[in-house]
Amino acid sequence: MENKNAQTFEYKAEMKQLLQLIIHSLYTHPEVFLRELISNASDAMNKLRYIQLTDETILDRGKDLEIRISVDPKAMSFTLTDNGIGMTREDLTENIGTIARSGTLEFLNKIKEEKKNAGDLIGQFGVGFYSVFMVTDEVTIETRHADKDSQGYRWVSSGEASFTIAEISKAERGTTISFKFKESLKEFADDYKIKEIIKKYSNFADFPIFVGKDKINTVEALWRKGESDVKDEERNEFYKFVTNDYEYPLASLQLSVEGAGAEFKALLFIPRQAPFDLMRTRQHKTVQLYTNKILIMDDCKDLLPEYLQFVRGVVDTSELPLNVSREVVQNSPAMTKIKTAMTGKIIQWLQKMANKETEKYLTFYKTFGPLFKTGLNADFANREKLIELLRFESSTQKSGEMSSFKDYVGRMKEKQKDIYYLTGDSRAQIESNPNTEYFKKHNIEVLFLFDPIDVFVIPSINEYDKKTVKPIDKGDIELDADDQAIKTDDDLSKSLVSVFKETLKGQVEDVRISRRLVDSAVTLVTSDAGMDRQMERMMKMMGQEAPASKRIMEVNIDHPVIKNLSRRYLANVSDDFMKKCITQLYESAQMIDGELPSKSDYIKRMMDIMEEATK
Ligand code: ADP
Repeated sequence: MENKNAQTFEYKAEMKQLLQLIIHSLYTHPEVFLRELISNASDAMNKLRYIQLTDETILDRGKDLEIRISVDPKAMSFTLTDNGIGMTREDLTENIGTIARSGTLEFLNKIKEEKKNAGDLIGQFGVGFYSVFMVTDEVTIETRHADKDSQGYRWVSSGEASFTIAEISKAERGTTISFKFKESLKEFADDYKIKEIIKKYSNFADFPIFVGKDKINTVEALWRKGESDVKDEERNEFYKFVTNDYEYPLASLQLSVEGAGAEFKALLFIPRQAPFDLMRTRQHKTVQLYTNKILIMDDCKDLLPEYLQFVRGVVDTSELPLNVSREVVQNSPAMTKIKTAMTGKIIQWLQKMANKETEKYLTFYKTFGPLFKTGLNADFANREKLIELLRFESSTQKSGEMSSFKDYVGRMKEKQKDIYYLTGDSRAQIESNPNTEYFKKHNIEVLFLFDPIDVFVIPSINEYDKKTVKPIDKGDIELDADDQAIKTDDDLSKSLVSVFKETLKGQVEDVRISRRLVDSAVTLVTSDAGMDRQMERMMKMMGQEAPASKRIMEVNIDHPVIKNLSRRYLANVSDDFMKKCITQLYESAQMIDGELPSKSDYIKRMMDIMEEATK
């Protein structure tokens, strides 16, 4: 397009890569471009509706808000016009053509490698506009901001390296997107086809969408209807519309709350899949806030405590004045009440699911558990209820099966006083930990905790149902006297233990005769006051300083290797080979815990020992 005042801008490197991905590899459903454009137009009109409540000077004030689409089969062209807020020059350079969320590119690249269908997900990444480049080679945006002193602009790009911006004269506020379909996709340049796509993806748009003279969508506030007046299918479609998700939600909840100081209606959902940045709650979207059917916040995180910010959907209240500022919304007492009421309802919803739809609940738990569990340390009012909702794998149950504390207590042996658990990286790693031997032998159930977040939340539960909740790798674990693996701690064993202490001086806090080992020669446990080992590792991983607490080494004096060492000790109290073996035993225990400091030293010592043994 010939234009004297057009200025050219280069896309940032990251954006170029993203465009390449979009155009060449990601999309399998090019039709989603329409959903993205309609979604952007609706956002723009929602913003307009919001500011015109207070600003009387805006352009075309009071004009009906609507989206108009036209296609020309002969010219293979497409035009979409909204009369929303429009864009300034800064908006065009800042908002179009930048990746808003960190990690987006890495994530999409990963998806591409795994050959998943990222096209379906594109709307969740704040780059939805660029999906037009699936269907065209060049796009034109003509826009004017609603501010009365604004200026019109034309933005043109072929989605490769650069875009241009030029001033134009444009009388009305809002945005028009236009382009010509690629030859291979000319079937889209057809009224019927376009209507079909709108019905499929955008039926619940807040504003009327016209194709030619026909209004296509049903503009209705589904969440204000009674639960029984809405079909499941409608609710599911509505979910897809609000979230841009490509699949139906895992669960939905329609709420109508009155009294208790909070009055609101809501339609809430739990998605099937977690957003890629689940734990970074500031980054992904939660619920939309409406007041009397008017959207006032597209993503109102303050309506939910952080640990429930996987919930999506819509909340509508009449308790907030329409023309209130966002800051006031955040700090209003009405909001606090709604948040409290919503939290209670969501927990009830999960309780019901856990009791009646166990499979569904476990799917939820596996998907959102890491975030959900953080609630235990944040929401003390609901802590007891949240504890009931925890699920773990366990030594007596099959891999993949999950139990609650209640299940565990129901299976406890008559004499058993405490609830036992062990943390680790995986089920297999925990199962091979020597600290489980005593429990295995006596068939005492141990909960296996291997979600990294567990170490932050479970140690804080000291008691459940008046039973102490204990990690089995602590030094002070009290084992039933009759049940203990029988050990005879004679003088010789005691002397050998002092040699262990001497040899490992500075490396371990103490060496003790073990009551819990059955098959292994040694194990490492945490001192009574020491920090959980997994916790220590997590803290290091997050770059935080963890006080490096030393372990206690426990020795199984009935083990053949230990017996042989005793014999060597009798022959020569300062036998070098014996000391070498002691160090090797210590490092083997470290290795099981994934904490071996030097593989090469370990192997070298092993070679020395083998040489001696094969002499
Ligand atoms: P997202 O909509 O997810 O933020 P997009 O790439 O689709 O990502 O759009 C980027 C931004 O461009 C939007 O957030 C909005 O600020 C602006 N924008 C896009 N389309 C319009 C429009 N029709 N009217 C006004 N602003 C728009």
